[in-house]
Amino acid sequence: MDEQQALNDTRLEWVPVQDGFYKIPKVPDQKFVLIGSRCTKCGEVYFPGTPQCLKCYTETTEDYDLQRVGKVYSSTVVHLAPSMYQGQVPYMIGHVQLDNGVLVPTRFTEVGNSPLPLGTEVELVLEKLGQDEKGRTIVVHAFRPVRK
Ligand SMILES: [Zn+2]
Repeated sequence: MDEQQALNDTRLEWVPVQDGFYKIPKVPDQKFVLIGSRCTKCGEVYFPGTPQCLKCYTETTEDYDLQRVGKVYSSTVVHLAPSMYQGQVPYMIGHVQLDNGVLVPTRFTEVGNSPLPLGTEVELVLEKLGQDEKGRTIVVHAFRPVRK
């Protein structure tokens, strides 16, 4: 799903795959973001967010909106998916590195079946994963190559 499709959808019924992972604005012209955490003492940033800094062990962190664009840090093609996975195989996973050095684990979307070259510029999208017991759409983040 691309962002325009996402904007046309009813975000009120969207829920993140994990509580607190994403900020999904109810105003259509605002963009969704990944929510990380930032240490209030040393400034280290994490995704997923953590209540304790793993660098200086301070227990005061705050929510931090992550950048939506980064570069491919690692990528690998998965040919044998876990049994509960219902999407297409093969698919690609890896890490995206943001400007502040944060590594975001992710699935890559809108790519072929070869690993993405390291350093490829990619941007955040949200994709539908399924529905919860209340019929709401569960969404999960992915990154796709930036269209120039
Ligand atoms: Zn810290």
